[in-house]
Amino acid sequence: MRDIQTVINSITEKMLPRLGAAKVADYIPELAKVDPKQFGIAVTTVDGQTFVAGDAKVQFSIQSISKVFMLTLALGKTGESVWKRVGREPSGSAFNSIVQLEREMGIPRNPFVNAGAIVVTDMVLAGHQPREAIGEVLRFVRYLADDETISIDNRVAKSEQTTGYRNFALANFMSSFGNLHHPVDHTLGVYFHQCALSMNCVQLARAGLFLANRGRNPVTGHSVVSEKRARRINALMLTCGHYDGSGDFAYHVGLPGKSGVGGGILVVAPGKASVAVWSPGLNEVGNSALGSVALEMLANEMGWSVFGA
Ligand code: GLN
Repeated sequence: MRDIQTVINSITEKMLPRLGAAKVADYIPELAKVDPKQFGIAVTTVDGQTFVAGDAKVQFSIQSISKVFMLTLALGKTGESVWKRVGREPSGSAFNSIVQLEREMGIPRNPFVNAGAIVVTDMVLAGHQPREAIGEVLRFVRYLADDETISIDNRVAKSEQTTGYRNFALANFMSSFGNLHHPVDHTLGVYFHQCALSMNCVQLARAGLFLANRGRNPVTGHSVVSEKRARRINALMLTCGHYDGSGDFAYHVGLPGKSGVGGGILVVAPGKASVAVWSPGLNEVGNSALGSVALEMLANEMGWSVFGA
């Protein structure tokens, strides 16, 4: 196994000349303001060491990566009955697509596309006011990362609240099938805030570490989920974590991952490490362009893959 620090230093160096070529998400006005010429990576191993390179300590909007933490919360609250309201199949469609919902009676394909995540958020909201649910999500992510400084960027949440027509359409459509149990503005209020969680690569890699270590955070000793549940969340990240780019990501990187339109990607190398990369420029399916390239290099160099030793 190569020395992790040497590998990520060399990857970061290779990324530098390519910074700024891909475009940032501009459908959320606050995200359109982010400087695309940034790249960071953090690797936290299951023995608790963290390695960083580039802009690993710059905060960014985790956006859809929050869908992994929300699914973990919802499974903890309601167990397997989550799957009565959301499926487990790759969508083959864009992250914000509405087309399958009509054919499939308002049941979204999986918890990692927007429609699915909105339903999962609705589950987490049960028994709470939106403000309390947002507090619960924030506390959970701080607990996972063992970092009380993590916060929500309210400007980003507000920005999406005022322009998120597509998400309102998805939520209203699912409500018409009875698959949301709260007022649309309550559920989306929580959804926009979870997407606006502001984290850096180090915090994100640490928050995902339980998934690389059979459900237990090896640094804090907290048992977050059972080993079986960790395996299952990883399976969904592998098959659905990159929308209609999930097959391509599995082919090139070979590890479970979840991306967000803020340009972050969280990746799990089971038994080895949790990795967070961030570079705001996106490829055509809305995943970090350089982040995907960097993760392919890392997986190759380290020999990390779920498809063979
Ligand atoms: N908040 C974003 C949205 O709902 C999340 C999408 C993403 O990161 N792919 O559009």
